Amino acid sequence: MSSQEDAEKLLKETAYFKEAPEALVQELARQMQCLNVEDGHNFFEEGEEIHSVLILEEGMLVRTKMSVDESDVAELRSSLREMPSEHSESASSDDSSVLIDMISGRAQVTGLLHNFKAGAVAYATVSAKGSVKAWLIEGEKFREAITKEPAYALEMMSALSRELRVGTKSLQALVRHSKAGHREGNATTEQKVCKVLCYDATSWTIEGFEPAIKEFNEQHKEEGISIEMEFTTERLSEHSAIFAAGYSAVCLFVNDTANSNVIQTLSLLGVRMIAMRCAGFDRVDTKAARAFGLTVARVPAYSPYAVAEMGIALLMSVNRKIHRANNRVRMANFTLDGGLMGIDIHGKTVGVMGTGNIGAILCNILFGFGANVLCYDVHENPDVLDKGGKYVSKEEILSQSDILFLMMPLLPPTKHTINFDTLKLLKKGMILINTSRGGLIDTKALLKGLQDGTIAGAGLDVYENEQEYFFQDWSAKTVTDSDLVALLGNNKVVLTAHQAFFTQEAVDKIVSDTIQNLTDYYHSNKSGIRHPNNCIPVHH
Ligand code: NAD
Repeated sequence: MSSQEDAEKLLKETAYFKEAPEALVQELARQMQCLNVEDGHNFFEEGEEIHSVLILEEGMLVRTKMSVDESDVAELRSSLREMPSEHSESASSDDSSVLIDMISGRAQVTGLLHNFKAGAVAYATVSAKGSVKAWLIEGEKFREAITKEPAYALEMMSALSRELRVGTKSLQALVRHSKAGHREGNATTEQKVCKVLCYDATSWTIEGFEPAIKEFNEQHKEEGISIEMEFTTERLSEHSAIFAAGYSAVCLFVNDTANSNVIQTLSLLGVRMIAMRCAGFDRVDTKAARAFGLTVARVPAYSPYAVAEMGIALLMSVNRKIHRANNRVRMANFTLDGGLMGIDIHGKTVGVMGTGNIGAILCNILFGFGANVLCYDVHENPDVLDKGGKYVSKEEILSQSDILFLMMPLLPPTKHTINFDTLKLLKKGMILINTSRGGLIDTKALLKGLQDGTIAGAGLDVYENEQEYFFQDWSAKTVTDSDLVALLGNNKVVLTAHQAFFTQEAVDKIVSDTIQNLTDYYHSNKSGIRHPNNCIPVHH
């Protein structure tokens, strides 16, 4: 097939030219230049004029953005829907830019709207991810060809505008609503109202926040500051982000998702702050938040005692088979037969991976048991060292521990710390406890370890795919996640649904620190400093 035929065939597969008159297709195909480029080649650069229409034949394109300011937001609003994309990710492509989306698949078109008129500027950089085969039509040639077919040009523009309208209509309405909301908040009085939407709200959230906010507003009446928090049971996701229209902040919990797409939407809606009511922020793309100008704050330590003590509760339940013994005595089986025997913790080697706030408190409790405490962390904790903790390598802690606690955050280097390879290092018959994040363990590897006896028992407060299930009542429904079903059916496993934090003291601290973060943000904003004390550093 000649390259003219290739080009015509590709054009007819695009959404925009499949109905085009034959003469126009032939003319455009004549102008198309084929390019084979390697990873990283930039087709359009953010802020520079777009000179051509691009049609993808093979490979993948990424759209990235260096930073977003007010003018970018305006540009984003107008071009948000121009480029159809099949895939998007929350990861960023390099250290300083944020990935907006990815385009893959034959016959995807980009730059079309920009080339109806000369001089339009790209709001994002479009570059090749891996090897890419694409065709370019120079903007001027495109305009010359299209003006020869005015009826089709009109049809195409109307299709494009329809597409833009459909994509942005609700968003624009929400942005208007959002602006009106902000104006309302400021115009009625001199009062500054911080409007917050609290996602994934459960009864303890509402019962904790409502009276505390009421009290806060009473106390700060004179200063003219108040917080208005509304609650939704919805989790933050790409689908539910638009609910945040009209709010200046969102309050999130462990299973809300704030990836780059969500953050882009929040930013367009005028949301300026993400107040996490938890310590972990593994579901927040902090790089995207920085690029879109959103401040992210968290509650770094609500009650580290609550989580450390729950770790011990899980250990003692797994070790002394409390869960099984309790079921048996309820059935009037008062024997000790059938696997109720446990081990003393005293004198055992207990590994603690992650000796931060929670891990350090756990070490103190373990010293009380008379255990030999081994530690692993990227930073040694001097208090833990002073009290007798011994830092060892990852291989040593995995291979020497009779009991192993995972107490580090979920980050790319800690993901699946327990996997099929590290399983081989574990001491036969060890006990594994995880109160941190489910993603620290590859569940399939854990199930294998339980089955072959490498792992004698597991105490888990978290599960890697907990998002769909935890904090919800599934008792009348069918759990279809086969790994979760296997954990639930395994009597060597004690599983709780992310409740390690759940003590009165911890909830009080979550509520008071979140309110503090919101007001710090308001104050720091007034003084031009954008970060409350508990702001998450951008390097995360
Ligand atoms: P922290 O930040 O005080 O301590 C984390 C420790 O992990 C630090 O010492 C850090 O140096 C270490 N670490 C980081 N990367 C590491 C790596 N690659 N290898 C080894 N160590 C590494 O956090 P924390 O308050 O002790 O909380 C720990 C985790 O517990 C949180 O990240 C959160 O995910 C989880 N958590 C769970 C609950 C719950 O209810 N189940 C509640 C609170 C916190």
